Amino acid sequence: MTDTNFDSEQNGGGLRSLTPPFRPGEVWLVGAGPGDPGLLTLHAVNALAEADIVIYDALVDKRVLALARAGAVLEYAGKRGGKPSPQQADITRRLIALAREGKRVLRLKGGDPFVFGRGGEEALALVAAGVPYRIIPGITAGLGGLASVQIPATTRGTNQAVVLATGHAAEGSDEDPDWAALARLGQPIVLYMALANLPRITAALMAGGADGATPVAVVSSATLPNARVVETTLARAVADATEAGLEAPAIVAIGAIVSLREQLRSGIAPDASQDGADE
Ligand code: SAH
Repeated sequence: MTDTNFDSEQNGGGLRSLTPPFRPGEVWLVGAGPGDPGLLTLHAVNALAEADIVIYDALVDKRVLALARAGAVLEYAGKRGGKPSPQQADITRRLIALAREGKRVLRLKGGDPFVFGRGGEEALALVAAGVPYRIIPGITAGLGGLASVQIPATTRGTNQAVVLATGHAAEGSDEDPDWAALARLGQPIVLYMALANLPRITAALMAGGADGATPVAVVSSATLPNARVVETTLARAVADATEAGLEAPAIVAIGAIVSLREQLRSGIAPDASQDGADE
């Protein structure tokens, strides 16, 4: 009965040996999770220990970058100091060029690389260029970030589905969800990148039939020491989030799943420092 990778005799290299080899000339698109380094996958930690260069996005925590191999180059791919952010095409060109130089290239993204992270676009560009790549999934903020503040994405008897939606798109653009259709589903909605558009989105959901009394939680910096949670309602969400001064990154959870939090929270072990300070 030794057919498992976790068998200690077969697994001479320890947990390290569970990760496929990171070969020169490969690009790995790696999810860094919502922030807390403890939520990295083993594959992500091992890849950080092997990469020659780490190209990272804005939401990646410093403590995660600190796990990179000594001597690895850390290169920031987001906005900085008011300068415009590099275009997506610049980033993919850079990944391809570095891989062709024979580097082990780690492209590190917050959360999961394939959830609102443009990881799909980068992967397609690598495929088109013939650069071998791998995806290392990560914990996405809209699921793990909610769990970290005691909001279950699904609970039997409460919801049968959950919608993950972007709140970032301009009104009327192709990327903008059909808010009225989502309101009619009557299932919880979890919004990414929604703070700036929250007035428009909450109004559109209510115009589409959602009850203004629907529970809402706005969760900022989930899993980080400065995590904050505002519990409110759909009708009051904008006023309450503004009054609390909540800042990005924030997830907005809308629906009955939010009401479960109070009871779940009552049993949380002491010293859970990242379980979200309430406003
Ligand atoms: N790929 C990422 C999402 C990138 S879009 C993922 O899977 O999580 C960026 C948005 O993610 C932010 O605007 C915010 O809505 C959300 N987000 C990322 N990290 C977060 C965190 N620690 N707390 C709250 N929201 C977070």
